[in-house]
Order: sequence, then structure tokens, then C-alpha cells
Amino acid sequence: MEFDLVIKNGRIVDGTGNPWFRADIGISNGRIAKIGQVEERQGYEVINTDGLIVAPGFIDMHAHDDLIFFDDPFNKPKLYQGVTTVVCGNCGISPAPVNRRTLDILKSYISILSKKVGFEWITYGDYLRKLEDMGSLGTNFAGLVGHGTLRIAVMGMEARDPSREELEEMKSLLAKSLEDGAFGMSTGLIYPPGCYSKTEEIIELSKVVSKYGGYYATHMRNESYAVLESIAEAIRIGKEARAPVEISHLKVTGKPNWGKAPEMLRLIERAREEGIDVTADAYPYTAGSTYLASILPPWAHEGGEKKLKEICKDPKTRAKLREFIEKRDDWENFVKQASWDGIIIAYSPSHPDFEGKSVAEIAKLLRKDPFDVVFDIIAEDGLKAMMIEFVMNENDVERIISHPYVMIGTDGLDVGVGKPHPRAYGTFPRVLKVFVKEKGLITLEEAIRKMTSLPAQKLKLQDRGLIKEGFWADIVVFNPKLVSDEAAYKEPRRKPKGIKYVIVNGVVEIEDGELTGKRGGRVLRRASS
Ligand SMILES: [Zn+2]
Repeated sequence: MEFDLVIKNGRIVDGTGNPWFRADIGISNGRIAKIGQVEERQGYEVINTDGLIVAPGFIDMHAHDDLIFFDDPFNKPKLYQGVTTVVCGNCGISPAPVNRRTLDILKSYISILSKKVGFEWITYGDYLRKLEDMGSLGTNFAGLVGHGTLRIAVMGMEARDPSREELEEMKSLLAKSLEDGAFGMSTGLIYPPGCYSKTEEIIELSKVVSKYGGYYATHMRNESYAVLESIAEAIRIGKEARAPVEISHLKVTGKPNWGKAPEMLRLIERAREEGIDVTADAYPYTAGSTYLASILPPWAHEGGEKKLKEICKDPKTRAKLREFIEKRDDWENFVKQASWDGIIIAYSPSHPDFEGKSVAEIAKLLRKDPFDVVFDIIAEDGLKAMMIEFVMNENDVERIISHPYVMIGTDGLDVGVGKPHPRAYGTFPRVLKVFVKEKGLITLEEAIRKMTSLPAQKLKLQDRGLIKEGFWADIVVFNPKLVSDEAAYKEPRRKPKGIKYVIVNGVVEIEDGELTGKRGGRVLRRASS
């Protein structure tokens, strides 16, 4: 047998959760051709691992890298972590399908995902082909269709139920996108326009997802006071639509709700006992990150971005917004959950000097009311302003990350502006360092399973996510003693340590922790079932 690449003397953690074993790997035509003893021969590219861990490349189950490849074809922040596949289109927003009539609305909600957004596509298939026109990508790409994107295409930002015709139109756009290769549909039920939709609408659409063998991913309606009800809603959707469910970035936010993780996980376990396929993903941090404008109630978003900016300028509406945020608890109220010192400005084009500072700090510096600080920023920056919000408790994060049905997703993105959440650079190494090595909450083999075969199973990828003969050679080689996330809130762009080689479809993209300049990643399409 001839090989293009040989990985010698590795401790193989194969992604099944089984204990490591020692073997060589022979790679040919991008696939794992042999696991066992492989002789070095002339003409073979050889990686000598000296007993380092050799694992399947990590699958980032929750990414927002939908447009990043147009800025950075390598998708470097992910690649440096050992990620070889990213799953995009999450939280209800994907760049396709597009309706030219409402494209401006879609653009305003998705523009934070890229510095230069070109929308030279209409259908989901067009969009995938545009990605392919880039040539090979740094990581493989898998995508979901955003429910928000479907809704914007059919009914703009209108805060009402769809008519029967409109629902049918959404269903047919969704079906077409699934035929084009999308892996399922995602919702963002706190964001407009997802927050305007009722459960029944999502069930109807998820039936289409089910028909095509895809899955339903959800940023739930509420992750704080109504987190249990929101999990129940996700489960109901899965049950009635007969669709597998993935709960995105599973968490519980706001101090009064801390400690609910065991109960949340029990709900998922019980659903599974009943035969409903529910799993989840999570990132290993106590802070999240999203639009700063998410601190405003859903009604503030009804008129789109332009209106939003106007609302934030007008003193009368400011007073109304303030009262709503201070008094009402029956919505995803970030200000209440994080408080002003827990809300950090991650990006503000109009006020770069605010980046990295909390709203409380800025208010003190400027001798201004914190509400006025954020209203001023949103009035200038609209949906471009980003925040990092400290809303979680370490104990809950530990319980969730350690649970066997929970996989790993970064939810991270760096478009090169501001001070983004460090999860974009640190998620996977952080799980290995903190949860495996320091806290001993899960074994190395279990952590790798959560990062590889578990997401591959959800995506129905038949030949990725394991070190197995015949599978694509998506491989990461790392030093389990040195592996470490270096990215922190103050310095979010630091590369992790200990990730030595990253191989995508047999192409060595990272060698000794540095880019080789070669790319092997592809656009993946849902296997038809
Ligand atoms: Zn989300």
C-alpha cells in the first residue's frame, strides 16, 4: 500500500470514547488508509509524534463562520484550536436563502459576521457554490438554514404570525435549501424575527427538516427565568415534528436561576428516555457574547436597524425602554442578568475606546447614566455594537460540559475588530486544559468524543469524527500536558498552546503550531436519506 502521509507513533484517541492505543496512521488520497504499523518509505511525508495524542479533528458544533471564509479562507482562530469542521447557520441566521426585496434587513443582522459581505447569491445552493469558489477552505464547512433568514425572506421583520401562504413559502424555501445540502434549520428565539414566532410555526417548519433527515438546532426562547419551559418547548418541537433537536449553547443565566443545570439536564434525559433525540452543545466560559442591542426588548427591533437607532436617540422612547428593562422580567433581560458591571463592550465602531470596558466603568468615567451610555452606543452603531455578558455560574457550566449528551461548540467569531469573546480562539483547548487536566471532570477520551464522533453522529457524517480506516483524514495532534487556551478577555486573540499538527482531508495545515499555507477543507453537504 502506498501513502501520501504517515503519522508515526501516536497515542490514538479515536473519538469513540475508548482508551487510547498506540499505532501509526497511513493516509492516502485524503483518507485514513491504514491504522497499525506503517513503514516509513521514501516519498512519504512523515510526522513523528513521539507519543503525542492523535485524535480526529474537532467539530465546532456551534459556529458563526458563515461569512468568515470570505475574509480569512483559513478560518485561523478555529484551525489553531484543532477544529477541522465548523457548523454554521446557527441562532436563526444564515446568509441564504435571500430575497432581494428584504436583503437589507438580512444584511443588517448578519453584517457582524464579516468585514466585507458580498451577497452574490439567492439560494442556499448558490451560497455554497460561492464558498466553493474560494477553492479549498481552512476547515470543512457544514451549514444550517436560519429560521430568521427564512422569515426575513418571506415577511421581513414583521412581528406577527405568518399567513398560510407565507408559511408555505418558508417551507418551500427550507425544503429547497435542505435539498441543496443544508444539515437542518436553526432558530434564534430571542432575536428578531425569531422571537415573533410561535411554537406551532417552528413545528411546521421542523417537519420539513425531519422529512429530509436534518436536525433542528435552537437558541432557545429563554435561557434565564424560563429556561426549563424553553427546554420543554424545544423538546415539544422535536416530538411533534419528529425531528432530532440540538439545544445550542446550553446554559442558565442570571443569578436567581443559577443551580438549575441538573434539572435542565434531567429534562433532556427524560425526553431521550421517551424516544426523542435531544442533545446539546456548550462552550466552557461563564460569559456569553452577542449584539449589544439584545439588551433592548423585542418591540424595539420591529422596524429594523434604522428604526432601532432612532428609538435609541429619542428621549421619550429612551424613558420607555429604560422602564421596560428595569421593571419587566418576562423576557430575556440581559441587563438584569449581567448588571452593568457584567456587560463589557466588545466592539463599538464609534467608540473603540470603550472596548474591553464594562458599561458601569464607562458610565463612571463619563459621569453618565449607564442607560444613556448604551443608548448612545446603539444610536451610533446599531447592530454592529457587540457585548460580552457575564451571566453564568461556574458550577452550572461544569455540570453541562461534563454531561455525556453535550458536545462542544465555540459560538465564537473574530472578524478582526474590537475585543471579541476569547472562545473564538480558546474553546477546545480550554476544555482539554481546564475540564480534563485541571479539574478532572471528564477523561481525555470522553472530551475528544464530545468534540468529534458525537457531533459527527448528529450531523450524520458517515466518514468523519473518528480515527478509522476509510474515514477522511481530519486529524489533530496535540500534547496533552501542554495544551492550553491562552486567549483571555483582555487578550482574546492569543493562539492556544500545545496543538501541534492539524490535518484537514489529508492536508497538513498546521505544522508545529504554525500555518503551512496549504488548505484542504471542503463544503460538506447533508447526505440524502
Ligand atoms: Zn445563540
